[in-house]
Amino acid sequence: MSDEVRVRFAPSPTGELHVGGARTALYNWLFAKNKGGKFILRVEDTDEKRSTDENLETILRSMKWLGLDWDEGPVLQSDRLDLYNDYVSLLMSSGNAYYCFAAQEDIEEQRKEALEADENWVYRGADRDLSADEVREKLDSEEQRTVRFKVPDEGTVTVKDLVQGDVAFECEHIEDFVLQRSDEKPTYHLSNVVDDIEMGITHVLRGADHLSNTPKQVLVYEALKAKLPEFAHLPLILGEDGKRLSKRHGATSVEHFRDKGYLPGAVINYLALLGWNPGDDREVFTAVELGNEFTLERVNQANPKFDLEKLSWLNGEYIKEVPAGELRPAVREALQVRGCWDEELDMERRDFFFALIELWQSRARTINELADNIAPFLTEAFAYEPDGLKEHVHGQDLLGLVEAFREALLQVDPWGQEELEATLREVAGGMEREAGDLIHATRIALVGKKSSPGIFEVLDLMGRDKSRSRLDRMIRYLRKLENAKTKRLEQIAQAASR
Ligand code: GLU
Repeated sequence: MSDEVRVRFAPSPTGELHVGGARTALYNWLFAKNKGGKFILRVEDTDEKRSTDENLETILRSMKWLGLDWDEGPVLQSDRLDLYNDYVSLLMSSGNAYYCFAAQEDIEEQRKEALEADENWVYRGADRDLSADEVREKLDSEEQRTVRFKVPDEGTVTVKDLVQGDVAFECEHIEDFVLQRSDEKPTYHLSNVVDDIEMGITHVLRGADHLSNTPKQVLVYEALKAKLPEFAHLPLILGEDGKRLSKRHGATSVEHFRDKGYLPGAVINYLALLGWNPGDDREVFTAVELGNEFTLERVNQANPKFDLEKLSWLNGEYIKEVPAGELRPAVREALQVRGCWDEELDMERRDFFFALIELWQSRARTINELADNIAPFLTEAFAYEPDGLKEHVHGQDLLGLVEAFREALLQVDPWGQEELEATLREVAGGMEREAGDLIHATRIALVGKKSSPGIFEVLDLMGRDKSRSRLDRMIRYLRKLENAKTKRLEQIAQAASR
């Protein structure tokens, strides 16, 4: 028999791909890479009401964006309904399953009563041991029926889990679960096991929230005399408050992170560390390095907390290291969204665009931040950071200083960093002012922020015309401030003279 590792990611298309699902997909992908095995994509879409094509498309798009390519699939369970029915017949004929004619409401009623009486109760079908004739009779007359698994009354099912260790479940606590619904569709427990058998899945890696389902599935494997896969239930991802990560903690879909300007490599890297550790303090890994190093032995039992700060830091590390050329498509898209993209930036002004990315890439934690920093070089419609205004743009006759600098920029020749620095210092010195005052004001005028790469680099790259028009805008702003101040003083004087 082949000992090839075969793993699968089995999303239900009932929503987008979120951090938890993406981490499960990634660990399966990494495990397959590490073992030279196959990674299969299976879509568990038998719940017609909750599954949509749109969700499936989003999931596939997210996986492709992350680079999680699959070797086989996507296999849709909705295309294989006959197969599950065959297995239902098998389980019926071996006496492991039975038709259940009880109405759902009655079962719920029993459950409620037991709960109220504080009794332990699990459903054991009254129809478990009907004779063949009785079954036939009921099938002819009853409207609704499901197929349930006949759980042994006694015994223990021990799940041998590669992450959680041995976990024992008592049969007396496991209800006779449904295998086939009244609409003849398989339940998750049936189709999941059938496909894992049919696809030759060797390892089931999934979230620990499925651990409690596993004894039921083990019983189905045993009834079918099928070989059990290895199980590895991955620790759950928690929010900052220690509760299971959910929408309450903010958006966590993969597409959300893509839209916010995170790089797929950084997201993969971060997700890999959410429940796995390399055994030392390294934190930055490429997907290939992760594939080489990933083992289930290093998957932690403790539930990790999702830490957006850390993801952002890691993303910043990636943006710093990636060659500017690789960032271009994403930055271009972000600039388009901001309405300041110009096709020339991909043609005759390509070098300029490149230089802008290189100027800022070591200071941005996301592509969106990078685009926000670059935008002032392309459009004048950017805001001045309030903090920057407060700290650096007030009083002391800044207006005259900025005006003088704007005029002096006309004479700078050639336009270069050294010449720009000499000019700025000359203007400030000539007016007996600190060069720093002019540098701070110029920075806010040019990029709207109180921190940026070296101001002479910024001026150099911005060019003479744009630098002057950005300073013009600052001059208009300062004049308005002066006017407002004069008006206020006049009002005070008037009030005093009344
Ligand atoms: N469709 C299930 C889910 O999305 C798959 C669980 C499993 O991997 O067995 O949670």
